[in-house]
Amino acid sequence: MRHTRPPGVESFRDRARRALADERLRQAVRITADGKVEARRAAFAQLAELAAGGWAPGDFEALRRRAHAIKMASLDDLDRLVAKAAASIEARGGHVWRAARAEDVARIVEGIAKRRGARRLVKSKSMATEEVELNARLEAAGLEVVETDLGEFIVQLAGERPAHIVTPCIHKSRDEIAALFSRLVGRPVPTDTPSLAVVARQVLREDFLQADIGVSGANFVVAETGSVVICTNEGNGRLVSSAPPVHVVVAGIEKVIPSLADLPVFLELLARSATGQAITVYTHLVTGPRGPGELDGPEELHVILMDHGRSRILASPYREVLACIRCGACLNHCPVYRQVGGHAYGSVYSGPVGVVLAPLLEGERASDLPFDACSLCTACTDVCPVGIPLHELILRHRADRVRSVGRGPAGFGTALELGAWLWRSPWRYRASLRLARMGARAARRWGAAGGDGWLSSLPGPLAPWTWGRDLPEPSQRSFWELWQRGEVLLGEGRRAVAGCGRSGTPPEPPPPDGPPRDDPPAPGGEASRQASLDLARRIAHFTQMVERLGGRVHRVGDAQGLPAALASLCEAVAPRGGRIVMADDLDLAPRELAEALRRRGLSLYWTGGGDVPEPGPDRVEAWRAEARRAAVGITVGRYAVAETGSVVLLAGPGQGRLASLLPAVQVTVVRESDVLASLEELARRLGAEPLPSSVAIVTGPSRSADIENDLVLGVHGPSQVHVVLVGGHDDAARRDDLRA
Ligand code: SF4
Repeated sequence: MRHTRPPGVESFRDRARRALADERLRQAVRITADGKVEARRAAFAQLAELAAGGWAPGDFEALRRRAHAIKMASLDDLDRLVAKAAASIEARGGHVWRAARAEDVARIVEGIAKRRGARRLVKSKSMATEEVELNARLEAAGLEVVETDLGEFIVQLAGERPAHIVTPCIHKSRDEIAALFSRLVGRPVPTDTPSLAVVARQVLREDFLQADIGVSGANFVVAETGSVVICTNEGNGRLVSSAPPVHVVVAGIEKVIPSLADLPVFLELLARSATGQAITVYTHLVTGPRGPGELDGPEELHVILMDHGRSRILASPYREVLACIRCGACLNHCPVYRQVGGHAYGSVYSGPVGVVLAPLLEGERASDLPFDACSLCTACTDVCPVGIPLHELILRHRADRVRSVGRGPAGFGTALELGAWLWRSPWRYRASLRLARMGARAARRWGAAGGDGWLSSLPGPLAPWTWGRDLPEPSQRSFWELWQRGEVLLGEGRRAVAGCGRSGTPPEPPPPDGPPRDDPPAPGGEASRQASLDLARRIAHFTQMVERLGGRVHRVGDAQGLPAALASLCEAVAPRGGRIVMADDLDLAPRELAEALRRRGLSLYWTGGGDVPEPGPDRVEAWRAEARRAAVGITVGRYAVAETGSVVLLAGPGQGRLASLLPAVQVTVVRESDVLASLEELARRLGAEPLPSSVAIVTGPSRSADIENDLVLGVHGPSQVHVVLVGGHDDAARRDDLRA
């Protein structure tokens, strides 16, 4: 067979052989992938319940149809959408750059760094920057780049590539990570996951605050508003886009979606597919640089819209792969990936999406990816939340490769053609099966087969078939024969098999016992559905969701009782003598709160209070210092979302994002009447007015499961989340009184 792989590039077969010999690696990959598969299954079962109860806009199949349609329409109209996104970003004060090639991305970032005199960059996880090897290029130019996602940080310390889109250090054990961290801090670090996370938090906290530039990718770019959407669980994405004075976004052009109304469809699917969560902990919508009067956020926002081969893919029969939202579900479900892990693919992208995408992006370097190892089980296609027909695209690559390099050694192609001729006719198929059984029996008798049900080498022209894989011995009875004898699985067994089918979710979801309903789902469309979810049920559901995530909800009758309630809560969660920070919000009655806290031995830093320096750079620095040393950060949530248990924080004059990021405890105050039913309703509300520079949808405490799939809280952001719901209808009047 003619090889197209460039000299010096190791083959997939060699890398896979090494991975298969590494039992520890295989176990680590299997444990993590199994955990993600089960979490995804449970999350979509829950989504079906939420949809049946009226909280969510649809189940997996309904939402993926919508997601596919939106993505395909966006790809059809990509030039116009990208131009619209660029115009929207610039209208909000951002700078837009277009990068055709990998080196263009690095050149643009270098230019920004040079102009700002920047030396240190912090990065949040981004496959786009991995794809163009941005770190290596920037380091070669003398810049320091620090990965801040826990998994990426570990991989960077080890000098390796990510082994998974979502869980980059899926291949690393806690012992290996502890050894890396011990070298980093110069002392032995315990091997338990919480201790490892504490070390990462301490080291990276400094980097966030000292960095000159934050670099992130984008999960989505909303053309209508010019918003960049960054989804992370640890909070590093929000810190990277909030703490440094400059934020640079590297986004593939295919990330552009038309409008804010489209976003909830993808938010519903992304985290459930990736990690089994309803939504990532931090969904950050960045719309322009820091606004007037804001205490933090970047002074400059640069968005690099990267092509890097996408236009070529768009014009090819593989265009559907550009719909990928990088959830990683196809990797977790792929029987090949689960055996060999990500590094065996030798490419940034691994698993089924890597097999499709890498040859298109990397050309000959990725020419020997395991097209043939794919069993066409279709598990990847079944679980893909945007409906990419991955197995069909893999099959297309196979056909292309046969066209470009031929059909293999002499006789192999003829043998395959003979097979196709035999299996096109039922009687020829049955006759060939009988012959194959006889052949397998003879091989066993002569010791050519292992007797374990697998043939590891075929004779003559069929030999290439078993060069890279074993072949199962032909069954003694065909499916048709079993079916005729009534020996095919029935009942529960059949349902279990059907559950692995195209839907990716169990065919008969359990009856919903989710939110209480008086009526069946309203038939009159979205408006009447939302109207049917009254306030009491929204609050009950919101409380249930927050508590499921490990947060706490507290109820206060009206705004008058808020200072005392907040002071009691702070006393319970902060150490004696602890410091509380609160961004400017007169609704929270800061003077009364400060007095109530003082009586409890706590002190308040209020950005509108008497101890605040005059506005200016000093005030920003003072704010950062206070937010950093505070035990508790109090913020006001503009909305809460019952469906997901999220609070929604908006940037604005006198507000600081760090209040909800740096302290270990986050307290968010939300008016009960602002508890919305769903993400769709939130998108409608947000879309009704110009977006502030930052909208953060925060859902539970900061978390990571990057280390051996062990959940750990408080990686970069708060480990405790409290929501205080304030009742009463006199809030507006009270606010007006206080301002007067
Ligand atoms: S191809 Fe589909 S399943 Fe695979 S990472 Fe992309 S969106 Fe997820």
